[in-house]
Amino acid sequence: MAHDHLHDEDDDDLARGKEPVPHDVQEAIRTLIRWSGDDPAREGLLDTPKRVARAWKEYCQGYGEDPSAHLARQFEEVGGYNELVLLKDIPFQSHCEHHMAPIVGKAAIAYLPRHKVVGISKLARVLHAYARRLQIQERLTSEVAQCIWDALKPHGVAVVIEAQHGCMTGRGVRTPGVGMVTSRLIGTFLEDNRSRKEVLSLMGY
Ligand SMILES: [Zn+2]
Repeated sequence: MAHDHLHDEDDDDLARGKEPVPHDVQEAIRTLIRWSGDDPAREGLLDTPKRVARAWKEYCQGYGEDPSAHLARQFEEVGGYNELVLLKDIPFQSHCEHHMAPIVGKAAIAYLPRHKVVGISKLARVLHAYARRLQIQERLTSEVAQCIWDALKPHGVAVVIEAQHGCMTGRGVRTPGVGMVTSRLIGTFLEDNRSRKEVLSLMGY
């Protein structure tokens, strides 16, 4: 009986073009609502388990992506351009692996090409592929830098991420407005003082 009911529900979801949400996933979210102090059977919360489940599929889309695939299409440098390439103020959202709370911020990504360049929007795609997972900011920063370093073999890579953590602003010590800055510098940006100063000042740091 319960099984038939679930089956009909799945058919309804499919008919509306939505992915069915497994029963145990919905039940887990109902358990969390109950644990938080509310009644999952309350009318306003009836569809919440499905919505939350689908939202989390989206927040964690990155697990289904190979970030380096975004850098597969590379172009030879045109006209011997060997100055740094910088994309800054890239907004992103992630979730911290300790509380599953939102991390909201912006990133600056730069590299100094050796032979190859990529379409500039691809740098943002690499960021999002790593950000749409459960993360800590330090690892997100170094994963983005390492991916570009490995794929493009440039002279240098610099990634700076500035973000606010929901687990700090919304709970615990509750310090709204406090941002955390992390950076990862590789190659010439790490080794050469002048290059490092140049890239960080272009990024606004
Ligand atoms: Zn946290």
